[in-house]
Amino acid sequence: MKTDCFICVTCGTQFGPTYGTPNECPICGDERQYVGHQGQLWTTMERLRLEHRNMLAEEESNLFSLRTEPKCAIGQRALLLRTDDGNLLWDCVPLIDCETISKITLLGGLRGIAISHPHYYTAMVEWSEAFGGIPIYLHCNDARWVMRPDKCVCFWKGEQQGLFGGLSLIRTGGHFDGFQVLHWPAGADGRGVLWVGDQPFVCQDRRWVSFMYSYPNLIPLAPGTIRDILDRLAPFTFDRLYGAFPDQLIATGGKEAVRRSAVRYLQALGMSSL
Ligand SMILES: [Zn+2]
Ligand SMILES: [Zn+2]
Repeated sequence: MKTDCFICVTCGTQFGPTYGTPNECPICGDERQYVGHQGQLWTTMERLRLEHRNMLAEEESNLFSLRTEPKCAIGQRALLLRTDDGNLLWDCVPLIDCETISKITLLGGLRGIAISHPHYYTAMVEWSEAFGGIPIYLHCNDARWVMRPDKCVCFWKGEQQGLFGGLSLIRTGGHFDGFQVLHWPAGADGRGVLWVGDQPFVCQDRRWVSFMYSYPNLIPLAPGTIRDILDRLAPFTFDRLYGAFPDQLIATGGKEAVRRSAVRYLQALGMSSL
């Protein structure tokens, strides 16, 4: 019997090699996710490659999005950012195949991967291996959610971490204790861009954001946590926000949208101001 690195169908997380499927997916068992309606199901990369493709699209100068079609697991996109010092993949998708590797190689390959939080870890180790074992930057507070430990995973500590190309990771906490966002100062023609995954969550009207402990199960965050998130973003200049799902974009006025949305959220919880 040979081992395989099984992938959870509901969240897309790839596990380390096992003989037979793992017993459960702790990420889906947690109250910030859910076990699928058919119970715990597993797939493999080999099977995903037969049924899915990754689509690449240019979002703005030097920024591309990548999503798996038909929709796979949670359905988030990854973003590929080109800098003079190398390319970064932000967040990740479950599928990696030869076509994707060729397209990304034409854009200059990848130097590193950074992922906002465990819901998007997916097949990050296989992605890293496909580009020569490049580092995956995660916050150490979320280490327990890594289901396929590997030497390419680089845990960082503290509140901020500089990367190559002028990029910075900011730990905001909230949705996950090690939740991180990425700041790209050169983005939006120099006005600054924040890549947020699903916190702050870009709302449907693309003028407001929101904040949740659990999105599928609608569990809000405490007022103090919202204030912490705002405090940690305060030193950074940004005008545009890219969320985790296709078309989740606040094109301009992003920083003010975050502040205004935090005020609205706290008012809904009975507070008169920030
Ligand atoms: Zn799962
Ligand atoms: Zn999430």
